[in-house]
Amino acid sequence: MSRTARRGIERPPAFIYREQRSGLLRRKSESLALFCDEIPLQRLADSFGTPLYVYSATAIRERLQIFRHAFRRVPHTICYSVKANSSLGILRLIGAAGCGFDVVSGGEMERVLRVDRCAAKRVVFSGVGKTSEEMTAALKVRILLFNVESESELWALAECAARSKEKARIALRVNPDVPANTHPYISTGLQQHKFGVPIGEARKLYAQAAGNRYLEVAGVSVHIGSQISEVDPFSAAMERVADLVRELRRDGHRIDYIDAGGGLGIAYDQSESDDFEVSAGEYAEGLLRPLRGLRVHLLLEPGRAIVGPAGALLTHVLYRKTNKDKKFVVVDAAMNDFLRPSLYEAYHEIVPLRFRKQDALEKVDVVGPVCESGDFFARDRALPVTSEGDVFAILDAGAYGMALASNYNTRPRPAEVLVDGGSVRVIRRRETISDLLRGES
Ligand SMILES: *Cc1c(COP(=O)(O)O)cnc(C)c1O
Repeated sequence: MSRTARRGIERPPAFIYREQRSGLLRRKSESLALFCDEIPLQRLADSFGTPLYVYSATAIRERLQIFRHAFRRVPHTICYSVKANSSLGILRLIGAAGCGFDVVSGGEMERVLRVDRCAAKRVVFSGVGKTSEEMTAALKVRILLFNVESESELWALAECAARSKEKARIALRVNPDVPANTHPYISTGLQQHKFGVPIGEARKLYAQAAGNRYLEVAGVSVHIGSQISEVDPFSAAMERVADLVRELRRDGHRIDYIDAGGGLGIAYDQSESDDFEVSAGEYAEGLLRPLRGLRVHLLLEPGRAIVGPAGALLTHVLYRKTNKDKKFVVVDAAMNDFLRPSLYEAYHEIVPLRFRKQDALEKVDVVGPVCESGDFFARDRALPVTSEGDVFAILDAGAYGMALASNYNTRPRPAEVLVDGGSVRVIRRRETISDLLRGES
């Protein structure tokens, strides 16, 4: 195994292996145990059961700090993208660190307000299909900015604002027609994607918006996709946005904000290095270069980059089975708990909670109990030989993990715990079957 394990050892700071001393004499043993902050993960699996999402508060705070530091030279607000992980305990932590929020539904806005009634002034609302009810609710609490994605939405918003006797602060989300080298499902900045208004049509729409007394033009917004690991697409989009801002200002609009969206990728495969200070620094440099001299307040909507590496999903081995020469490890988590491998064929590092350096490796498929062949976490992966009952951690599961979980196969969703140094808090109890059946008749 050494591959994953050694890399595991190198992973600072959320999930790392430590030598575990055992026995009365506390002699150094050969065995390594995976920790989250100060807590051995096996203890969490024993106390709370599996599947279990575990997050490191320290890692989330640290990543926010690094991200913020990268943009320290310009006025900016981090509006954490709620859809990456919308659990209240996570939102509370991020809100307490002074961040705003990017929401894409009335439900997400409600979550943010539950955590902090006063957070509305730091909320931006994105999404191609906002309903009148959602927009009216957002107007009522006076959010910072609506990222409007179509002409029809613009007029619907103006109507809601007129009815509420409120003025809606808007940015148009422009579609810069810039390719981002990422999975097609999470690429959003090309003209064939449903997102945003074509950048060439934006000026006309801004002029129309400015003529409406219930709309207040305040910014330009863009988001070209997710899990983008190169800087060039971000820079290219920003160049187009910067040109547009200059044109709009010449047209007489007041543009205070540029919302640069999210999308900064993380290294899921540990053969790539993941030095967040480096990647956040390069990302900031790439965004800021085209904006030089523009004097705007920058809004940033990172999701994955903040919470992804700060979370892991613990799952235990139910059964081992062999079909001819194919070996399967059947675990108790499934695609309903963690969809990324099934949906995007995403690679996630899988490591045992305990291992000894001399453990042999074997090639296995790690699969869940759901009745679909697409229900897998890894295929033909070399992992240390494990026994039934052993627990694995699926790493980098903090973003788009629990947020995408479902009840497919009538499976209750996992519990979530937040580790903060030496303390552990359950931030969502495990769902029960009766939770699932409530509301049905
Ligand atoms: C999903 C999304 C984000 C966050 O993307 P990440 O890749 O998680 O950083 C930000 N802004 C908008 C509009 C989004 O849809």
